[in-house]
Amino acid sequence: MSVVSDDEKNMSAAGKSIAGNLHDLQARVYKTAQRVGRDPMDVALVAISKVHGVDAIRAALATGHRIFGENRVQEAQQKWPALKAEYADVALHLVGPLQTNKVRDAVALFDVIEALDRPKLAAKLAEEMAEQSRSLPCFVQVNTGEEPQKAGVLPKEAGAFIKLCRLDYGLTIQGLMCIPTQDEEPAMHFAFLREIARRNDVPCLSMGMSADFETAIELGATHVRLGTAVFGPRPPKP
Ligand SMILES: *Cc1c(COP(=O)(O)O)cnc(C)c1O
Repeated sequence: MSVVSDDEKNMSAAGKSIAGNLHDLQARVYKTAQRVGRDPMDVALVAISKVHGVDAIRAALATGHRIFGENRVQEAQQKWPALKAEYADVALHLVGPLQTNKVRDAVALFDVIEALDRPKLAAKLAEEMAEQSRSLPCFVQVNTGEEPQKAGVLPKEAGAFIKLCRLDYGLTIQGLMCIPTQDEEPAMHFAFLREIARRNDVPCLSMGMSADFETAIELGATHVRLGTAVFGPRPPKP
């Protein structure tokens, strides 16, 4: 399927390559889902636009893509309010760690919070959502590799934490999210996350990035988070 809009025809070379990447990636998502007997409509491609500028995001929007992710609240605040005013149907996911002092801004700007990982954050999110009359679905991040430097609840604590979020704070736990340990087989982490979701009646799984999203789809991902594969390499951190 190739639908080229007028916006796309007028795009720069960089924009055209982003549009082309998105078309190719959507096709790969579709094929992988079909191959394993899943409904391709059950897999959302979340385009991770962190570090990339508004022009790159606009190129993706011009193709009709509407699901995006950012990992920092402040950076997102610089790029997204104007774009969201223009594209009301955008769904913006926060995929990075969230500090409690940024919760107010995050609840105001984002549509999905993907890195819920501690009781204090759950409490603050519930308070701000009530305050702003906004109910955002959340994903609980699970530290499947039990890495000390990584965010996320430990696997053995996930069940109790999900219950706490649901019962004590009334949050909608739509999914689980993980970032596999570098240099380990990602499939093991994806299967583990799926099992934790199954045990706790959590419907969605945010797992799989540019290098391993097809494996993630095979193992049940409902959201794949693709940065490099959509927008190209990110400049190295200063
Ligand atoms: C940057 C990032 C991604 C995208 O990574 P790529 O390898 O560039 O696809 C996905 N998830 C999170 C949480 C990220 O921070």
